[in-house]
Amino acid sequence: MPNTVVILGAGVGGLSTADALRDLLPETDRIVLVDETFHGAQGLSLLWLLRGWRTSDEVSVTPTEKTLPGVEMLKAAVEGIDPAERTVHTSTGPLTYDALVVALGARLDTAAVPGLDEALAAGIAAHYYTSEAAVRAHELLRRTDSGKIAFLVTSMPYKCPAAPYEGAMLAADLLTETGARDAVTIDVHTPEPHPMPVAGPIVGAGVVEMLRGKQIGFHPGRQVERVDPDTRQILFTDGERVDFDLLIAIPPHRAPAPVAAAGFSEAGWIPVDPHTLATGIEGVWALGDVASITLPIGKPLPKAAVFAKGQALAVAAGIARHLGYDVPEQTFDGHGYCFLEIGAHPACSTPETRPPGLTCRFMPQLGTRSSVRQGFVCDGFGLLGPGRGSRSSRRRAPAVPSRRLGGCVRGCSDRCIA
Ligand SMILES: Cc1cc2nc3c(=O)[nH]c(=O)nc-3n(C[C@H](O)[C@H](O)[C@H](O)COP(=O)(O)OP(=O)(O)OC[C@H]3O[C@@H](n4cnc5c(N)ncnc54)[C@H](O)[C@@H]3O)c2cc1C
Repeated sequence: MPNTVVILGAGVGGLSTADALRDLLPETDRIVLVDETFHGAQGLSLLWLLRGWRTSDEVSVTPTEKTLPGVEMLKAAVEGIDPAERTVHTSTGPLTYDALVVALGARLDTAAVPGLDEALAAGIAAHYYTSEAAVRAHELLRRTDSGKIAFLVTSMPYKCPAAPYEGAMLAADLLTETGARDAVTIDVHTPEPHPMPVAGPIVGAGVVEMLRGKQIGFHPGRQVERVDPDTRQILFTDGERVDFDLLIAIPPHRAPAPVAAAGFSEAGWIPVDPHTLATGIEGVWALGDVASITLPIGKPLPKAAVFAKGQALAVAAGIARHLGYDVPEQTFDGHGYCFLEIGAHPACSTPETRPPGLTCRFMPQLGTRSSVRQGFVCDGFGLLGPGRGSRSSRRRAPAVPSRRLGGCVRGCSDRCIA
């Protein structure tokens, strides 16, 4: 009897799982990939849109049956998940499964910060967590010739721990290009104690140093209460008020509605075994941004494509074994890189000027579009330590994006770190 594996979400996690699984299952087993759009962009390229190095068309990713042979693609909205009946409810009807992978990512919830939606609608606030929003943020930045820009991390968790700092540095870079930099102040406000807490205080201090080198203010430990679009102020829970002319927010992230409704956890995110990505429910796996993993250091595993891709290999092997195939176990070890795009910066020039804990690499693929060629790598942290199984997911990780996704996931592929 052929099996049916249903994968919900065609982002990095879903696509990588479908790709790896197709190699492991016989052709008679169906793999059904469900997505409401089948059209997206890798997170890292949103920063290029923000900076103006790419257009939306240039960064859009649309998987097809040619790029994922042997995978059925169902364009539909997932409306409900019923593990007891092994059924997923979609806008085009129910789907039953023998194994289910939930890779629906995270939902942005700008309405969770009072006043933020109004500020976005008034064109005095922006974000860069979707392609459209990143293009809009670029337009607003390009038009800015003076005043105060506030980058605001509204809450945690959020995708890509480096993104707020990259955004601020790339904004500074853009304003230098437009000639407005000297007339504009840029500040980052965040509830975090330092940038990228999961990477530790040394890397955090290094990033603060980079911000300082670009005259960007850093304000840790600040939790937003609301935004006042009339007075153009951010109000924080400690009573502090900060003026802005342009607010660039990292929006609140939530579990997608059908996942939250399925009741996997109180917070909505799906708790998983950190090494196998199995949920507590038989035949159901979750990976990527929708999954929640607490690291041995007590911090959550960051929501990043580099991890989703590594997890996909463990999920694919786990499903093949669950369906009775003789496939070696693969486990996820939390290995990943983080590549910061910082724009032009002298800190990379020599080892002496480099902040401790960071490694520099040039990025020639960006050099074709601009003079900015510098980036930082926080070299791989195996956050979970060695896995339990015979093979670590790390070993195969670089193969997937270059072969199937037609580009490189920053931090995932050594091709990016030339
Ligand atoms: C600005 C920015 C920069 C980033 N930079 C990096 C980086 O440098 N390195 C890195 O590793 N990560 C980076 N990330 C994070 C990375 O993009 C995400 O962690 C990654 O995309 C998560 O993959 P995923 O498959 O879990 O979710 P997603 O890629 O978000 O995919 C989820 C999919 O589910 C679909 N979906 C959602 N709800 C439904 C529904 N109800 N019905 C049907 N389909 C649905 C969506 O259409 C989508 O295709 C960045 C993110 C941002 C925003």
